[in-house]
Formats: sequence, C-alpha cells, structure tokens
Amino acid sequence: MFWTKVFIPTVKETPKEAESLSHQLLLRAGFIRMLMAGAYTYLPLGLKVLEKIQGIIRQEMNACGASELLLPALHPLELWQKTGRDKDLGEVMLKLKDRRGRNLALGPTHEEVITDLVKNNISSYRQLPLVLYQIQTKFRDEIRPRFGLIRACEFIMKDAYSFDQDEAGLDKNYQLMYEAYKRIFSRCGLKTLITEADSGVMGGKVSHEFMAPAALGEDVVLLCPECNLARSSKEENSCPKCKVEMSRVNTIEVGHIFKLGLKYSQVMEANFSDILGNLKPVVMGCYGIGVSRLIPAIIEQNNDADGIIWPEEIAPFQIIILPLDITNNVIMQEALGFYKQASCAGFSVLLDDRDERAGVKFKDADLIGIPLSIVIGKKSIEEKKIELKIRKNKQTQLVSKDEALESIKKLVSIGA
Ligand SMILES: [Zn+2]
Repeated sequence: MFWTKVFIPTVKETPKEAESLSHQLLLRAGFIRMLMAGAYTYLPLGLKVLEKIQGIIRQEMNACGASELLLPALHPLELWQKTGRDKDLGEVMLKLKDRRGRNLALGPTHEEVITDLVKNNISSYRQLPLVLYQIQTKFRDEIRPRFGLIRACEFIMKDAYSFDQDEAGLDKNYQLMYEAYKRIFSRCGLKTLITEADSGVMGGKVSHEFMAPAALGEDVVLLCPECNLARSSKEENSCPKCKVEMSRVNTIEVGHIFKLGLKYSQVMEANFSDILGNLKPVVMGCYGIGVSRLIPAIIEQNNDADGIIWPEEIAPFQIIILPLDITNNVIMQEALGFYKQASCAGFSVLLDDRDERAGVKFKDADLIGIPLSIVIGKKSIEEKKIELKIRKNKQTQLVSKDEALESIKKLVSIGA
C-alpha cells in the first residue's frame, strides 16, 4: 500500500493526554485516536495490528478444537440477576433501559449468555465436550480509564468457554488452553509471567493469570530469583520453595484462564444427561485474552528512543520502502519495481510515496516500527545497490539489486 492512501497521521510532539509510553507511541505513530476517555478509534495501522493479533488467536484457538461464534454485546439484565453477578460487578456494569422499559446491560463478559445458549441447545453427553470462543467488544464503566487501550471502557476481548461431562474433561481442555496461551503470547512477541491466581468475581477453583511485565503495570507479581516461581499479590514475599525474598515486578494482565466447574451451570440449570440417563450440570472453564490491551503491552516491551519495534508476526507491514526523492523518476521507478517484487513474493509492503525530506521518512519509519526498511536514493541507484535497514537493531546492509529479494527473505519471513 502507498503511504499517501493509508492515512497515517504521525505527530512529532508527545500528546498531552498520553500517560504511558505505549499510549504516547500509539498516538504519535498514528495507530489510534481518542474519541473520549476510555473509547478509542483504531486507525488503519492500529487496525492492521489488531487483525494480526486476532489472526494468531484464531489459529491457536481453532488448533485446540475451539469453534468461533459471536454473542450479542447487549444483554437482558435478568440473565445476570440469575447468577447475582449484576450485584458482584456493581457499577462496573454499564446498564441501560430500552424504550419498552426492559433492563439491559452492555456485556463486560459472557458467562451467563453462553451458559444460557448451551442450556437451551445441549442435552446429551454425546454433544460434549464443546469449546466455543468469540472475539468481541466488551464494556466496563471504569471510574478512571487510564493508559489508553490498557484500561478502557470499550475494549476487545477473546473469551472461550469449555463444556465437559466431568472434571477430567475440564482438566484436559484447561491444559490445552494453557499451552495455546503460551504460544499466542510468544508469537505476539510478548513475555509473560504465569501466576496461579485468585478467581475473584469469576468464581471457580483454579485459575492462572498471564501477566506481561511493564513499568506502568498496576498489578504486582512476586518473582523468585532462584526458581522463577511467579505469584500474584500475596502477603508473604518469600518463595515457598527456596525461602528467598521474591522481587516485585510490575505487570499488565493480558490473559486469565479459570476452571469454573459448576458455578454457572448449576445456578442456570445447564444440564446434560449422561450415559446412564442421569441429569448432570455441565463442567465449565473460561479463558480470556485482553486483545486490545495486548497492543500497548507489546509496545511497552518492544520499543526504543525512536519508536515502536513491532515483533515480525504482528507488524502492520513487514517492509517499508523509502524512496528518498519522489520527484526523481529513476528513484520512483526503482521503488515501484521493488514494491511489486516484494508484494508478489508474499510480503506486506508499505511504500512511503510522500514528498517529504529523507530525514522525515527515516524518523517516521522508525516511529511506526516496520521490521525492515528498503532505502532507495540516488547514490544506491548509481552503485546498483539498495540499502536494507533492520528496525530492531538499526543494522544496515548494502546489497546488490539482483540479490535484494534473497537477502530480504533471509531477514523477514514471508506471509506472516
Ligand atoms: Zn523459588
């Protein structure tokens, strides 16, 4: 795609409203804009990253045997009254009335809705196990939305739910999800600490949190320097195994998985008949990922003084081509030639066709964080060479025009 067609409104100055590094970079690099506190627009580059993350999540969920659906964001409040969670969540829940006076809520999560669906459509052990997931917009009435996409009132989550006949089935699905989560975060270029956590308002017995270390993180994880055991905000701060003092790490919660057991199915009477014909409540698990929150968490871990350094698999483009003078026909012909070559080879390519100084193009390319730049200027054309610049380590290499594509293939994987 061409820069002038994409809409990438980069800004030099740090916006006043930005409270964290990732928030500043997302605004400066033209990935998001604020509509009001807690509600954000994804501009084209932001949307591309979001879609790449969603693509990874879909691949890994489907590989676990989970099936995608889409539940409504608008819920009847009475469904929440059945489990009493309208009270548990309190003012965090966005409630409203329609013109007929029905009490409604905008979903902060979907356990009640999905349990209701399963209750009405599952009756036999033959239909189990079942794992369903969705990627959905959710709502929380935050007192203080903060840090851009990290704590927003409207946000995107992946939530999956498993339904099994018994605890053994749940254990198996839980383990599959646990492993899938590790793969998802690793493919997104995100380091996480996994802690055994308190189930809180979700209920259930066992849960694990996936916490991304970041300076601005509001959740403190205790980490043992000897055995790497991670624990969420416990009172004691020495490792139960090694008895040494654990260090405190600020983190952002990016994923949380729960063994819910019978908490929802019992109250909502989501039952199935087992092989002997006995009626039993389904055994449930639920598995969440803060999809929109992943973007700032990834940036907090992948940046330098010049901007974002996107991990390859989720970068909005893999390659940016920088013709240094668009008024020079030879340079532009060369740039367009490479654009076609690289696109045909399967790379996603952005061509900076703006009539801007070379300095502006270099700065913006660093700011938006594309993994590889191809620089085309007068000098490189005279020498029949092009310059490749790797964003991550700023290393440059001059390669001959004919070998350029081969060199690029070594530096960036195709089709990511
Ligand atoms: Zn230890």
